[in-house]
Amino acid sequence: MKLLETPQLTPPAPDYSEHTLLTPGPTPIHPRAMRALTRPMLGHMDPEVFALNRAVQADLREMYGTGPETFTALLAGTGSLGMEAGFANLVEKGDDVLVCANGSFGRRMAEMAARYGAKVRLVTAPLGEPINPADVADHLGSAQMVAVVHGETSTGVLNPLPEIAEIVRRSGALLTVDAVTTAGMEPFDMKGWGVDYAYTGAQKCLSAPPGLAPIAISERAFARYAARRHPTPLWYCDFSGLRDYWIEHTYHHTVPVNLHFSFAEALRAALEEGLPERAARVRWMGRAITAALAPLGFSPYVERPEARLPTVLALRLPDHFDDAGVRAGLRQREISVTGGLGPTAGLIWRLGLMGEAARPAPYRILMVALEDMLD
Ligand code: PLP
Repeated sequence: MKLLETPQLTPPAPDYSEHTLLTPGPTPIHPRAMRALTRPMLGHMDPEVFALNRAVQADLREMYGTGPETFTALLAGTGSLGMEAGFANLVEKGDDVLVCANGSFGRRMAEMAARYGAKVRLVTAPLGEPINPADVADHLGSAQMVAVVHGETSTGVLNPLPEIAEIVRRSGALLTVDAVTTAGMEPFDMKGWGVDYAYTGAQKCLSAPPGLAPIAISERAFARYAARRHPTPLWYCDFSGLRDYWIEHTYHHTVPVNLHFSFAEALRAALEEGLPERAARVRWMGRAITAALAPLGFSPYVERPEARLPTVLALRLPDHFDDAGVRAGLRQREISVTGGLGPTAGLIWRLGLMGEAARPAPYRILMVALEDMLD
């Protein structure tokens, strides 16, 4: 069986000496980010670290597609901390929050908003389908915030963010966006769309080590924060504390300096490659892998092509496929792929195409191993 006929993907002899990480995050660490991790430590109040942070803030504005009016920073935690910081700072008891929840991460947003006192209402969609913007319009009511996951990792669905954002903008509600599987790889226009709060995780589209959540806060979101009746219960990520450190350069907490060095390199590498070029790369890879696996019986899980999340390739498994057995066999060969989550367990694979995972070399290794195991 020949899974890959395209010359670019012609399999070389596999090398199982290193791990091949094809999960929907974390992703393989970019070589520049890996080297930067081993730099000698500097203090978190060192002028060189502040200069590095300023450069990161500017690069993050470029990644999110926004201007100098937007405050950007790194939180010392994973993507979930980015999610939590948004609700902790922008929601107060009794606030009306509409959450677009068509997968696990949308539901996580709803749970967090509720824990910070919001009265949460949901817009849902059938499994594997995107949120319908008309449903957002119908449910908007007097929502003070609308929250949406741009790319729903649990199902490989890309939600129609520009259309949803247009509806929210007209209503005046704040718009919070989970950009964990999109920012740095997919088009993201924070300013044009009118996004007020966005976050991602360093280990996803940028291929930096896990442990940092890059966030962006609009002026409107800061004004909402400034008008709070009570301080945020989450001291660690209080917006004013972040501003103290990132703008005023006064101590708030000890940032993980070595992760900052590493992240700065990964982000620079992404911008030097070019965001449109990265979006083209992930699409090319997705088409090649889908075509290569089709003869085995794998097919796209998300029906509508425009609703397929390019960075997380969700493929329906062939009939009678031994999902757990094949993935365990791959793991023995030092290859990690991820199955479905919850209701899609045993039904799909979710192949990571974020950052450095979206390269022919690691997928060649997967194809050779599958040929070997399934022949
Ligand atoms: N949001 C989305 C869309 C995700 O895919 C993930 C993680 O996979 C998260 C949030 C949570 O990020 P983390 O696991 O880095 O806390």
